[in-house]
Amino acid sequence: MSAPEVIVYSSTGCPYCEKVKSFLKGQGIEFEERNASIHKEYFDQLKERKIFGTPATLINGKLVLGFQEKKFNKLLGLTEDQSPMATTTPQAETNIENADSIFQPVSEKILEEVYDFVTIGGGPAGASAAVYAARGKLKTLVIDKAPKAGTLAITHKIANYPGVREELTGLELLTRMQAQAKDFGAEFVRSTVLSVDFSDEIKLIELAEGRIKAKSVFIGVGAKAPSSKIKGEEEFTGRGVSYCSTCDAAFYQDQVVAVVGDNDEAIHEAQNLAKYCKTVKLLIPTELKGDVDFTLLENNPKVEIYKRHRVREITGTDSVEKVIVLTDKRVEQVWDVDGIFLYLGGMMPGTDFLKGSVMRDEEGYVMVDDLLRTNVDGVFAGGDARRTPIKQAVISAADGAIAALSAEQHVNKRSKLRPQYS
Ligand SMILES: Cc1cc2nc3c(=O)[nH]c(=O)nc-3n(C[C@H](O)[C@H](O)[C@H](O)COP(=O)(O)OP(=O)(O)OC[C@H]3O[C@@H](n4cnc5c(N)ncnc54)[C@H](O)[C@@H]3O)c2cc1C
Repeated sequence: MSAPEVIVYSSTGCPYCEKVKSFLKGQGIEFEERNASIHKEYFDQLKERKIFGTPATLINGKLVLGFQEKKFNKLLGLTEDQSPMATTTPQAETNIENADSIFQPVSEKILEEVYDFVTIGGGPAGASAAVYAARGKLKTLVIDKAPKAGTLAITHKIANYPGVREELTGLELLTRMQAQAKDFGAEFVRSTVLSVDFSDEIKLIELAEGRIKAKSVFIGVGAKAPSSKIKGEEEFTGRGVSYCSTCDAAFYQDQVVAVVGDNDEAIHEAQNLAKYCKTVKLLIPTELKGDVDFTLLENNPKVEIYKRHRVREITGTDSVEKVIVLTDKRVEQVWDVDGIFLYLGGMMPGTDFLKGSVMRDEEGYVMVDDLLRTNVDGVFAGGDARRTPIKQAVISAADGAIAALSAEQHVNKRSKLRPQYS
């Protein structure tokens, strides 16, 4: 058989591009690399094909987006056990209690699975739900967009969580819950849920990386969404205003963007955007919240950091052209930008992405019954995302437990909830 013609469109700093290249190298397959961050003509070639992300690999003219091991194997005529990635030992990955190591990127394998239980949000509600679901032998996935930026994760000290006597940060407590769920077999991915489709028995959850399939879903997204919009935000959403760098960064190649936020999510997104943009202007309106590692950004020449700067207004004609900024000296300035990425927090349930898929009240809280069932069979909600009597970590964790047991009843078609006694 003649050697396949393989072209890899890559970008600088893209981890999945590295995965694709090392996979091909591991197989001894020669390929032509076309770095779209360095050579504009390659970026234009992608745009012409309406491809707005890397890696994009052409194998004998057939396109593979992202790192899709199975597709590579198929198109290259390889068997699964020839694949160098087939040797990972899941055992070695467990018992590492570190927020960064618990969450993995979304892989092709995850996109192919049909999960019994998926929790959107990995805070105390989602993490506790994952403990119960995974222990109840449901194939469980936790999706969280910013594991170090949820309400519990940014809490400095937790003194009232039953059974925890020592001084613990919110993130330490949360990491314990997540590690416990992982020990029972739950998987964790870092990604933003963009939309959902609950119209069929198998629920669909849209991420920038692809679609997750689930027999039951728990909505545990907390209540950290901003309560008001910036002037111009709504008008320019999708035309320069974005909330997801994974989805939209490639549109800002060599351009200038502003990132606004005060937590790990904003830092993470600014870091990602810096791989594409000429300049990233990070505006931190107040103090940084939670466990935030700033060092990588401070040493990145493409990133400009503006502490105590706020965005007053977003303006433009057809798309975003300028932002009006109130500086730390309370002076108004007009900055030219091509786009703005917003990661601001507040006290509202972050449930807009659900649209009309489940019933929500006038403030966006998901409506549930005593078993935390929404109006859609197989979809549950809890923690701060429902109207709880009071917002506390222990209450969210209890909600997670109830919802997971309800989901187990749904998935296994039981007549009653089954408690977990040891
Ligand atoms: C300042 C402050 C101090 C507090 N102190 C205490 C305390 O001392 N003790 C106590 O018991 N409680 C305390 N609380 C309350 C407690 O932190 C919350 O009640 C609890 O964290 C809510 O849990 P949750 O899982 O519902 O939401 P969160 O903890 O907010 O977790 C929600 C998760 O969902 C993720 N998410 C959101 N949207 C998406 C999406 N579209 N896609 C993917 N992931 C998404 C977020 O990244 C986040 O990690 C405090 C709250 C605040 C604000």
